[in-house]
Amino acid sequence: MPEHYVPDNLPERIQHYIDGSLVDSISGATLDVLDPVTNRAYVTAAAGQAADVDRAVAAAKRAFDDGPWPGMLPRARARVLNRIADAVEAQDARLAELETFDTGLPITQALGQAQRAAENFRFFADLIVAQADDAYKVPGRQLNYVNRKPVGVAGLITPWNTPFMLESWKLAPALASGCTVVLKPAEFTPLSASLWAEIFAEAGLPDGVFNLVNGYGEEAGDALVKHPDVPLISFTGETTTGQLIYRNCAEHLKGMSMELGGKSPAVVFADADLDAALDSTLFGVFSLNGERCTAGSRILVERSVYDEFCERYAARAANVVVGDPHDPATEVGALVHPEHYEKVMRYVEIGKSEGRLLAGGGRPEGLEQGNYVAPTVFADVTPDAHIFQEEIFGPVVAIAPFDSEDEALKLANSVTYGLAAYIWTADLTRAHTFAQQVQAGMVWLNSHNVRDLRTPFGGVKASGLGHEGGYRSIDFYTHQQAVHITLGDVHT
Ligand code: NAD
Repeated sequence: MPEHYVPDNLPERIQHYIDGSLVDSISGATLDVLDPVTNRAYVTAAAGQAADVDRAVAAAKRAFDDGPWPGMLPRARARVLNRIADAVEAQDARLAELETFDTGLPITQALGQAQRAAENFRFFADLIVAQADDAYKVPGRQLNYVNRKPVGVAGLITPWNTPFMLESWKLAPALASGCTVVLKPAEFTPLSASLWAEIFAEAGLPDGVFNLVNGYGEEAGDALVKHPDVPLISFTGETTTGQLIYRNCAEHLKGMSMELGGKSPAVVFADADLDAALDSTLFGVFSLNGERCTAGSRILVERSVYDEFCERYAARAANVVVGDPHDPATEVGALVHPEHYEKVMRYVEIGKSEGRLLAGGGRPEGLEQGNYVAPTVFADVTPDAHIFQEEIFGPVVAIAPFDSEDEALKLANSVTYGLAAYIWTADLTRAHTFAQQVQAGMVWLNSHNVRDLRTPFGGVKASGLGHEGGYRSIDFYTHQQAVHITLGDVHT
C-alpha cells in the first residue's frame, strides 16, 4: 500500500450536470475538495449559485412538463431503474475506491454502501411495479379511484457521510415516482456523486430528469430550497440546518422530509448475551468512522455487569484497526475533513473532564497526518455531560450505568434526539415494553441496523420529520388525487 494512495481514475475537475451535459458554474466559481488522508486539495468542484440552480431547475421542470418520464408506465420506469442498479453493481469496486478517497471511509465499508445503493434502485423498481392504487365502487353507479401523480421537481440535499448511498436513498424513490430531480450533494464529498451522470445516461434516463448542482449549502442549497418551481425538498443533514430549511420550506409551502442528527442509546441489560451486545455496540459506534446518524453513541449498561462490560469494551476498542482507509484491514479510517476532525477532537478533550477515559483519547500512534481519531471510550458519563447530550459524529462513545429499567428509560429519553435505540436483553417482554416507551423512530431489539427496505426510516424529536422507506417514500414524492366518476348516464 503506497503511503498516500491516489486512485488513478480521478476526474480533472468536478462539474455540474444539467440537462444531460456536464457544465461549469456560470460564475466560474469552484471549491477545493480535500483528500482526508493528506488534507491536500486534489480536485476542484464547480461551486453552484442561484443562477446554476435556476438552470438546473428549468431543465428538470421542462423534463417534467414535456415528459416522457413522469407519464411512463411504472414498468417502463422500473426497467431504467434496474439498469441503473446493474450499472452501480458493475462498478461497485470503482465507486468504493472513489468514495473512500473522498470521505476517508474504510474501503470494505464503502463497498458495502455502494452495493446498498444498487439495492435501493432495485427495491424501488420492484415496488412501483407491484403497487396497486385504490378504486371504490360507490352507490349510484359511481366509481372513485386514486390517481397517484409525481409531485414535480424534487430538490434533494444530502450530507457527506456515506454520500453515494444516501443520494441513492433519495434518488431511487424520487425517480421511481416519476419526479424529475435536482441533487445538491455535500460540498465536502462531490466525487462519487459525479458518477451518477454517466450511470444515468448509460441506463437511458432522459436528459433533464436528473440534474446535479454542486456547491455550498448557503448558496446552491439555499437557492434550491427557495426556488418556486421546486415543490418539495428531501433533506438529510444536521438538525440546525434542518431547522433553517424547515422555515424556508414553510414560507414557500413546500413538502419536506427531514432526516437529521442522532445520539442514540444502546441499552444493555444484565441478562443480555454480552458477547453479542459487545460486538454490536462496537460496530454501532465505530463502523463508518462513527460518522453515522444511527450510531449507538451512548451505551447504558445495567450496574451488575457494568464493570465487566466496560473492561471488555475498552479492550476491544483499543484493538480496532485505525489506518489508511484504502487498506482492506482498516476498521476506522480518516474523518471526512479537517474542521470535522477538530470538532471531534474538541469533544474528546471535553470528555476527559466529563468521564473516565478507557480507550483512545486523541490521535492514534504512528498516524501523524490526516484526520485520524483513535476509537475513544469514556465511562461513568453523567446525563448532563456534553458528550452524553450532543452528537459528536465520530468514533467516540459515552458509557453510563443504570440500576433499574425506569432509570434506563429515563436516561435513554433524556436527550433532544430520537433517531434509533438498541436494546439488549433476554427478556422479550421487557424488550417490547422498552420499545413502546423509548423515544426513537427506529428500535432494534437484540439486533443492529439490519432493516428491510419496506420499513419506515426516520426519527422523532430533533432527529427528523416524516418517514422515508418503502411506500412512505413513494407517498412523499407523489400526490394522491381522488377522481370521482359517474358510470353510464349522468341523469339516471
Ligand atoms: P449539514 O446540515 O451541514 O449539510 C447537509 C447538506 O445541507 C449539505 O449538502 C449542505 O451543503 C446543505 N446545506 C447546508 N446549509 C444549507 C442551507 N442553508 N440551505 C440548504 N442546504 C444547506 O450536515 P452534514 O454535516 O453534511 O451531515 C452530517 C449530519 O447529517 C449529522 O448530523 C447526521 O446525523 C445527519 N445525518 C442524518 C441521517 C438520518 O437519516 N437521520 C443520515 C445521515 C446523516
